[in-house]
Amino acid sequence: MWNRNDVGEYNREMQTTPIFMPPEPTNLEIEIKINQHDGTFQTDLFCDLNQCGKNVTIVSDGPKTVQNVLCVEHGLLTSFPDQTAFREFVRVFANKILKVNGHELIEPGAMSIVGDNQTPPESMN
Ligand SMILES: [Zn+2]
Repeated sequence: MWNRNDVGEYNREMQTTPIFMPPEPTNLEIEIKINQHDGTFQTDLFCDLNQCGKNVTIVSDGPKTVQNVLCVEHGLLTSFPDQTAFREFVRVFANKILKVNGHELIEPGAMSIVGDNQTPPESMN
């Protein structure tokens, strides 16, 4: 037999939607710096292995090749099939943080500066 109070309790729990961020399948941590003056974002990636916290390096032969994410301490952390996939990952990841903090989200294709990206993608084509 169902107890009325138990059912009520169950329903109340179902109605609450907790803010839950599932762990990413990578060892990466992301930090976003927002420039309040011009509205641009800068994203920095760090190694999250054993709370390492070191800046990661992106190694690739170009925007259309595999992007390897390396830590000087831990080596290869993860890799992405191309720069588009990597940027999309960063954008989605960054938006999760922005959403929690009540900021405007980064639009698909929006310009964001990622880590030590010294060469603009335009000049690599
Ligand atoms: Zn590391």
